[in-house]
Order: sequence, then C-alpha cells, then structure tokens
Amino acid sequence: MTKTVAFHKNARNIFFHILTRCNLKCRHCYINPEQHGKQTLPLETTKKWLKALSHEKRESNLIFIGGEPTLHPDLHIMIKAARKMGYASITVDTNGFFLNHILKKVTPEELDYFSVGLDGSCKEVNDLIRGRGSYDKCVAGIEKALSKGFKISLIYTVSRSNIHDLKNMPNFLKALGIDRFFIQVIGIRGKSVQGKKRKSQLTRKEWGAVVPRVAAGAARLGIHVTYPKVFLDNSEHFECAGLVAENYFIFPNGRVYQCPLCEDFPLHSYVFEKNKPVPTHPVNEKDLFQLSIPEGCVMNKLIQPGNLSYDKQGKPKYKIACCLLKKEINPEN
Ligand code: SF4
Ligand code: SF4
Repeated sequence: MTKTVAFHKNARNIFFHILTRCNLKCRHCYINPEQHGKQTLPLETTKKWLKALSHEKRESNLIFIGGEPTLHPDLHIMIKAARKMGYASITVDTNGFFLNHILKKVTPEELDYFSVGLDGSCKEVNDLIRGRGSYDKCVAGIEKALSKGFKISLIYTVSRSNIHDLKNMPNFLKALGIDRFFIQVIGIRGKSVQGKKRKSQLTRKEWGAVVPRVAAGAARLGIHVTYPKVFLDNSEHFECAGLVAENYFIFPNGRVYQCPLCEDFPLHSYVFEKNKPVPTHPVNEKDLFQLSIPEGCVMNKLIQPGNLSYDKQGKPKYKIACCLLKKEINPEN
C-alpha cells in the first residue's frame, strides 16, 4: 500500500508549512500567524530546509501543509525535489479547492497522497464549518484527482457541529473510491481557542459512543482508518510522541516544533538559522515531554484541563492520550 504520514511510535514525519496563507476560513483553523509567521517560504529556502531535514538512515514521511500549500506557485517543484532527496512518502495536505491546478503539474508517481480536509458528507454540514462553496469545489477536485490515478486520504475533523454526520462518511468514501480515512479531533489551537468555539469540543462519552464504531465500519468497507483514542483508561499505557517518535512541524518563520499543542506558544525545540535547525534554549517543549503525570499528556493538562475528570480522592478517572499517536485499522492486515 502507498504510504503517507504515520502516527505511531518510531515514525519520522516532517510537516512542512510552506506558507500560512489560505483561501478558506475554517472555524477550527489552527494557524496562528503571530506564532507561525505570514511569509511564503521561497523555493530555494524550502529546498535547503528539506535537505537539512532529510535522513539517510531513517524513513521520513514528508507532508506539505499550510495554510493552503497549493497556493504556493512552486509546490510542484518542491515535490519533485523532495522525491529526489529520498523521502519515503510525500503527501500534500490540502483543502481541495485548487486541486485542479496542481494535478496538471505533478504525476501520481511523484506524489503518494493528497490528504484532503472535508468536514461533512454533504454541503449543509461541511460548508457551515469550512465556508460556502467549499464542499462542491473539494469533491470535484477529489473526483478529478482520482480519475487521474492519484491517491486520496480524507481528513474529517470531528466537533459538535458534525459528529452526527460522521456515520455517513464510510459509505460516502466508498462511493467516491477513497481508501484512507483520518478522523481528527477538534483541538483548541489557533482559532478554536477563541470564545464559544471551545464548546465545539467533544466529551469522552460523545467521542467514545461514535468514533470507534464508525472507524470499524469504514474498515469493514476496506478503508484504512486512523483515529486518535483521545481518552485512555487508566490501565492503558501512555506515551508522549515527543519521546518515542520524531515529528517535526516546520513553519515559514523558521520555528520547528515537535508537539502540535505547543504551537500557540514560543516553545519550539529548534529554529532554522542559516538554513540549519538549531536547538533553542530551555525552557522549551522538550522539557515538558519529560514530565510524567497521572493525567497523561502534560500540554493537555496545561491548556485544556477542562477535558479531565477526577474521582473523590483526586485521582484522574482517565488519561489523555498523545494526539500524535493514533489507532490504525488496516483492513489489509
Ligand atoms: S483549510 Fe486549513 S489552513 Fe485553510 S482555513 Fe481551513 S484549517 Fe485553516
Ligand atoms: S501532545 Fe502531549 S503527549 Fe503528545 S507530544 Fe505533545 S506533550 Fe507529548
């Protein structure tokens, strides 16, 4: 099976934000220009950073992301350059609006996956979250890409606004011919942090009642599904991806994070200087990865303690899992 980003232990993933600009204004957008910069990274700089981030011995999955990466005029040249550098898989994470344009400039051999964000099986649900007209554009782009032999994985960000529609997604994906499904939980990064949008987050009960069942249903249809467990029973083993995997989130202002929950703060582990990633001084996110607490993820406890619950003795009733280590159901196994 063609590879794309892997959310498991020992994986090495490079999430490369080549710009932060986007044509959409999704309610849950995590981009924070104050922390991530507003610039569009020039081609030559991108190539130098890609070289610095490649690894001779370890398989590395590369994900071009934004903002909207297809707005970058040189995306196709970056894909070809990364292929030559030996990245194990290359994925473009897109809102699907401009798929038509990039499809003319790359081949299915050069690109492993388009990872397309869609938050509903119909325009009534999706467009409420991602903006009017986005559903039609995105689905048309997906159909075109599939007809040209490209592989598509679909990301669905689950919130209170669309959890009722998640059950319709497996048949929707099957009908379109999509073989990979990423179910994502709404976070509280970027825009989601603001005001009422926090109420979009799901409780343990809401998540547990719907997501694993829908994931299993999609797998029965032959679709490879990845989803975060989010809530771990106390008997389940907790691991922080900052210690057991290598995930790098590169931003156009040169910041390199290893934990997405740290991205709203200047806690990045590295910063690009003279086109090389240089470690930042403590305190940074790496100091947090070392802390072991009964609640699981340290960053979760710091920025969204509202999703934790305690018994009368003050013991947490469950742990919060690392958002980078997810459950996979591969129908081929
Ligand atoms: S498509 Fe992505 S980058 Fe653009 S607004 Fe939506 S979440 Fe943000
Ligand atoms: S989300 Fe939590 S557990 Fe995962 S890398 Fe960040 S701090 Fe570690």
